[in-house]
Amino acid sequence: MQLKLTHKLLIIVFVPLTFELAFVFVLSDLLHKAELELNRETHSKAVIAESNELVKNLYDTSSALVAYAVSPSQQVTAEYLRRLEMIPARLRSLELLVSSSRLQKAAFDEVYGATNKALGLLKSIKDDLDAGENVRNLASAGGLRKRVTAAVSNLIEDIHELVAEERQIEEIAPQQQARFRELIVGCLVGGLVLNILLAMAMALFISSSTVNRLRVLMDNTRRMVGRQELNPAVGGTDEIAHLDATFHEMARELALAEKQKQEVISMVSHDLRSPLMSLDFSLTLIGTGKYGELSERGLKELNSAENSAKRLIRLINDLLDIEKIESGKLNVLKTPLSFRILADHSADAVRALAVSKNIEILIESADDIEFAGDADRLEQVIINLLGNAIKFSPNGSKVVIRAEEKGNFVEIRVVDEGPGIPADYRKKVFERFQQVSRGDGKEKEGTGLGLAISRAIVEAHGGSIGVDSEEGKGSSFWIRLPEA
Ligand code: ADP
Repeated sequence: MQLKLTHKLLIIVFVPLTFELAFVFVLSDLLHKAELELNRETHSKAVIAESNELVKNLYDTSSALVAYAVSPSQQVTAEYLRRLEMIPARLRSLELLVSSSRLQKAAFDEVYGATNKALGLLKSIKDDLDAGENVRNLASAGGLRKRVTAAVSNLIEDIHELVAEERQIEEIAPQQQARFRELIVGCLVGGLVLNILLAMAMALFISSSTVNRLRVLMDNTRRMVGRQELNPAVGGTDEIAHLDATFHEMARELALAEKQKQEVISMVSHDLRSPLMSLDFSLTLIGTGKYGELSERGLKELNSAENSAKRLIRLINDLLDIEKIESGKLNVLKTPLSFRILADHSADAVRALAVSKNIEILIESADDIEFAGDADRLEQVIINLLGNAIKFSPNGSKVVIRAEEKGNFVEIRVVDEGPGIPADYRKKVFERFQQVSRGDGKEKEGTGLGLAISRAIVEAHGGSIGVDSEEGKGSSFWIRLPEA
């Protein structure tokens, strides 16, 4: 069955809820039955007790009558009357107790009749006693007792009938209650076990239908970041399946875009950079006069063409470097390096620019410092820092490059006397395409990529890069590299 996530959530909520409700219903029904059983037992006890009291009352009344027959004192008469008056009250409460059962009602009618008969007898005996003195002797008293006993035993028989059912109830009540106790305990234990099983089944259901598939989705995100192939589709028609399908679609689109990007990159690097480099080479050759002397105007135009070609090559190189960094293909190959040699090579590379601005490049380091690094890549970084320093410094100023050993790393600084970097740009300039706009148009000469590439190269060495600057006085760009 294909269920949506919403349906699954509803199942998780409603299945246990329904079970709990059924459980509570069964339990409360059992408790109710047990309570009824207890009430029945109490009721039976009350009927039996009330019946016993009635019989006892009748006995007591007849005893009081016998005593009256022997000595009709005022006290004995009062006692007889008191007991006599209690009997109708007993009958009423007994009637109330049995009123709910039709069968018992019939038996009660018999009891009622027998009691009234006995009462009638007692009354007639009393009347006889009051009428004639001759009955007042012990022999007559004995006969009297017999007549009364006969009437009471009639009543007792009827009462036996009345309470027969109650006695039965009273007898079986403890067994019944024990049975209910067992049932309730069984229900509680069964409910608990079922609850645990249900929870496990739910956990299994959610885990197999949702959690496991979500895990596949999470794994897919990891795979996508790591550019690995995605897991097969999770299947189903719910929201997770849709998300997974969208994810696969996205991955396909990304792979396509990546392929197209690679095609553009290879086109840029081969079809654009190579001809540009040979163009630059040819322009340089023409500039040397190898193919004949050029007029002053021709040389000026050639120079400008050469600069444009070089700028384009720099831009292409920067873009290719950024692509390498993004695709994690920027590898550094560490070899032992000498700061002196590195600084000399880098300074030579920017010499022409420095000369054009009458800027002196000073290389300062007491002793030569040796450390491990990728010569080409670190030269690229220092050329970029020197190039920037010269580009942004005023004519005739100085640019210093110095190195210092600090603990287990080497710090190389490129210090200039340029405009400096505003505080809020000191971190930003190392991000791609971030340039400080000073209104002098100098940013247009660059790409805004040089420092981002430098940072990636330094970090690939396990080092760090930063700038200290005082606005208006100059900048001091530094790189810190581990010595080994
Ligand atoms: P680009 O120089 O090609 O614009 P960079 O990433 O090398 O790109 O530099 C980013 C920006 O940082 C520059 O445009 C410039 O605004 C600022 N910057 C870099 N070096 C210096 C410096 N020595 N003095 C002043 N500003 C600098």
